Amino acid sequence: SYLDRIEKLDPQIGAFISLCSESALKEAEVLDERLAAGEDIGLLGGIPVAVKDNICTRSIKTTCASKILEDFVPPYDATIVQKLKDAGAIIIGKTNMDEFAMGSSTENSAFQKTKNPWDLSKVPGGSSGGSAAALAAGFVPLTFGSDTGGSIRQPAAFCGAVGLKPTYGLISRYGLIAFASSLDQIGPFTRTVKDCALSLQAIQGYDPLDTTSIQGEPTKDYISDLNKGVKGLRIGIPKECFQEGLDPEIRTAIENAVKQFEAMGAVIEEFSLPIMDSGLSAYYIISSAEASANLARYDGVRYGYRAESFTGIEELMENTRTEGFGKEVKRRIMLGTYVLSSGYYDAYYKKAMLLRKKIRNVMKKAFDSYDIILTPTSPVLPFSMGEKTSDPLEMYLADIYTVNINIAGVPAISIPCGFSQGKLPIGLQLIGDHYAEKKLLQAAYSLE
Ligand code: GLN
Repeated sequence: SYLDRIEKLDPQIGAFISLCSESALKEAEVLDERLAAGEDIGLLGGIPVAVKDNICTRSIKTTCASKILEDFVPPYDATIVQKLKDAGAIIIGKTNMDEFAMGSSTENSAFQKTKNPWDLSKVPGGSSGGSAAALAAGFVPLTFGSDTGGSIRQPAAFCGAVGLKPTYGLISRYGLIAFASSLDQIGPFTRTVKDCALSLQAIQGYDPLDTTSIQGEPTKDYISDLNKGVKGLRIGIPKECFQEGLDPEIRTAIENAVKQFEAMGAVIEEFSLPIMDSGLSAYYIISSAEASANLARYDGVRYGYRAESFTGIEELMENTRTEGFGKEVKRRIMLGTYVLSSGYYDAYYKKAMLLRKKIRNVMKKAFDSYDIILTPTSPVLPFSMGEKTSDPLEMYLADIYTVNINIAGVPAISIPCGFSQGKLPIGLQLIGDHYAEKKLLQAAYSLE
């Protein structure tokens, strides 16, 4: 029935880049037989799952929504895909995204634009817009995305889904095609907080194949105690998030949610988090620097697209990259190589790294006083297709509340908190200290 729904409605939404109907049905049959034989088929047994197209899937095309990887079929599964399979989940397809996860609207895909299922004239957010839209359209009950600066939380907010960016290192990045390695994390999109807890439970754990995977952190039970409530929980609200630039309807929705938390016994306090505004500049320098290094491997020699006409090796690389990468990706590579170049390294990259340290310290300090920091997920409602494509800076502003979380490496969840008058979803962000996922899920659950 999920496949039927996708076939009928996805031509309008454009959430999927690849569908694997045949293998999915086969896997479902096998699981059916195992179930009939009385076997335990796992925590996610039989659940159809879609993953973003920058997460490697064995024998299934993984394109990063880029022409340069248009025909790339990975010979291995990402660890998270393996874990999903081990838990009995069925991979049903790969979802659309901004090319190499660079963007906030899923309009930067080389193949198609994804529409917001709530209003087809609006964007679903990005860069994991395909995963968010597939979930919101009821195509699958569980999808996964990656979040480098907001790419799970912002599309979750735009599509009325629950989206979690876990603590850096909690989920293995092995098989996630790198954008900015020190910021990237994989996380789930779900309809409910309980589903989010379930999926986190299935994919957690140390992975020796990822050098940044956290070792020694015990695996947790995220499901029990979900209904612990928020009585006595200290929630801090940074006043910098409620200044100009915030949509008034979002402000009202957030204020209502805060009142609900208060009524349930949470202790609410406004405070100042002055680094809130400076995160964006640090983020776009650091992420572009890392991207320029990570994307150097697409040279037309090792794998992926290769230009047809060239005379020597240099021209082969130049033509391949000129033809294979889209505009936004080229912009980031140029920005990244510029801030890393010897003449400008100290002025930009080094300063951004100092700022990163400061942001991390300020955030850590805030968690001495608060269990959770509460902000809007996005300053704006889902915007119209094409509205921000001509102005990259305007697009970057959409990430103002989300990037600091990746810079500090802490977890954050976006949950639905109402609708605008025009019936567009609004998202609320809860931020926790490192490894505070359990607390985040409990607080999020109490608001449902
Ligand atoms: N919108 C941000 C960017 O374009 C974040 C992307 C992401 O989290 N992958 O870089």
